[in-house]
Amino acid sequence: MTILGEMIIGQQCVRGTAGEAFGFNPSTRANLEPGFGQATGDDVERACALAAQAFDPYRALPLEQRARFLEAIAEQILAVGPALIERAMLETGLPQARLEGERMRTVNQLRLFAKVVRDGYFLDATIDSALPDRAPPRPDLRLSKIGLGPVAVFGASNFPLAFSVAGGDTASALAAGCPVVVKAHAAHPGTSELVGRAVQRAAREAGMPEGVFSMLYGDGRTVGQQLVAHPAIKAVGFTGSRQGGTALMRTAAGRAEPIPVYAEMSSVNPVFLLPAALQAGGAGLAQGFVDSLTLGVGQFCTNPGLVFALEGADLDSFVKAAGEALAGKGAGTMLTAGIHEAYNSGVAKFGQVEGLQLVAQGSEQGAGCAARAALYLCDADTYLGNAALEDEVFGPAAVLVRFKDADQLLRAAEALHGQLTATVHAQAADHGLAGALLTILERKAGRVLFNGFPTGVEVSHAMVHGGPFPATSDSRTTSVGASAIDRFLRPVCYQNVPANLLPEALRDENPLGLARLLDGALQAGGNA
Ligand code: NAP
Repeated sequence: MTILGEMIIGQQCVRGTAGEAFGFNPSTRANLEPGFGQATGDDVERACALAAQAFDPYRALPLEQRARFLEAIAEQILAVGPALIERAMLETGLPQARLEGERMRTVNQLRLFAKVVRDGYFLDATIDSALPDRAPPRPDLRLSKIGLGPVAVFGASNFPLAFSVAGGDTASALAAGCPVVVKAHAAHPGTSELVGRAVQRAAREAGMPEGVFSMLYGDGRTVGQQLVAHPAIKAVGFTGSRQGGTALMRTAAGRAEPIPVYAEMSSVNPVFLLPAALQAGGAGLAQGFVDSLTLGVGQFCTNPGLVFALEGADLDSFVKAAGEALAGKGAGTMLTAGIHEAYNSGVAKFGQVEGLQLVAQGSEQGAGCAARAALYLCDADTYLGNAALEDEVFGPAAVLVRFKDADQLLRAAEALHGQLTATVHAQAADHGLAGALLTILERKAGRVLFNGFPTGVEVSHAMVHGGPFPATSDSRTTSVGASAIDRFLRPVCYQNVPANLLPEALRDENPLGLARLLDGALQAGGNA
């Protein structure tokens, strides 16, 4: 399948004329052909106008047709075949097995949202019957949810498939009935084109309104900003840096009509090693931690960058074993030259913090954008005196903090910023401290996990990939899992609307067979 350097605007493939950008091979530091034409303001305008036109016809389609569209995208992505994986490997330096796994996750994510759409629970259908004899009388009130409108999605650099053109944000927005305009990430333009064309084919074959999907290339500060400022766009999905996410939040808040930005930004994902767990865990615990830290060259938003534990002989053994495991890890290629540079400068800053000791580094720096893992150790006073030690250094680096006692550790937990995850390693003997920690951590993180490591995010109904700022811009939601659809929905109450004009979900005969809340009582679903 030839990559042409073209954008997708509705059913057209368009070459942008605002300059040209190239993909980049982080292993060789060489540009990749072809050049990708960048979007002009007119291209942004056309994609947004088409999305606005598509909104009403798209959301009016039967849920079954919407679900089939999501499944058709999954099929079309698989149909691209090995060319997709080959291009993604060149553009990201990620290995084949990881990308094949990510493709499956992307496909399964689309299928999960197809099921969510078919089930219809996301509509929250609720009926309060009229009470004409009550004083004052109650009108007939019926609630259902509709999409917010066209959504701008920013593809993420670190998941070229699962958080990119047809990733979780796109899948959940389309499932909610919202057209999508993607700003492709410059780190993988060819991968984006292949996936964009797959979505375009699926839209055509499934008979979707033309503007249901578009994908643009261009610089974030121009094309990205124009997109978020465009009046047709009603919400934003983003994964990336805190700087980028907060810039988009400011733009969205400054519009004549402010809109929500769902930005997933930075998190150091603290891991708490409690005494009995530390004693029982031995070298296996240290190896598990190092494997999680270095997985994907540390380029996961759930990467464990901070470890808290109480001082003592068991911690000393853990540090020694972790250092040895880490020293055996080879350098790995990072996704982009920018991310590689940011990682090296983050590690260099650690080197200047007085009291922060380098425990171990991965083996020698390789060629291209290869980075060495690094583990640092400090005492509580050093950590508490250097606020920057809680900042994300995106990559395989972690800081281990040694506390004198449980009170000091709990105070440090209380001072943490918002996080995507918090992990506790605890045995039964630790449960007193673990319970106190849990009370704090459920206020700090979107996901609290015990006796595991935070990398590896299941795409399921109960998953939460979110958390208080700066982990995300809105702690009430998740960007992974079935609940991600809620970000792009809003409730509408239909008061005394004639029966034949009501949405199907709210009709008395319940033609969709939805489980509904009827006069405050849950009414079972199932097709009548
Ligand atoms: P990024 O710089 O935030 O870029 C993400 C996307 O946002 C890109 O499309 C970018 O466009 C756009 N963008 C950035 N600044 C913008 C602005 N001011 N206005 C409008 N659009 C803007 O993130 P990245 O390129 O993926 O990686 C850089 C750093 O982000 C990493 O070193 C890491 O610290 C962090 N990161 C964190 C996570 C996480 O999950 N926590 C994931 C990935 C990256 P341009 O490319 O044109 O700038």
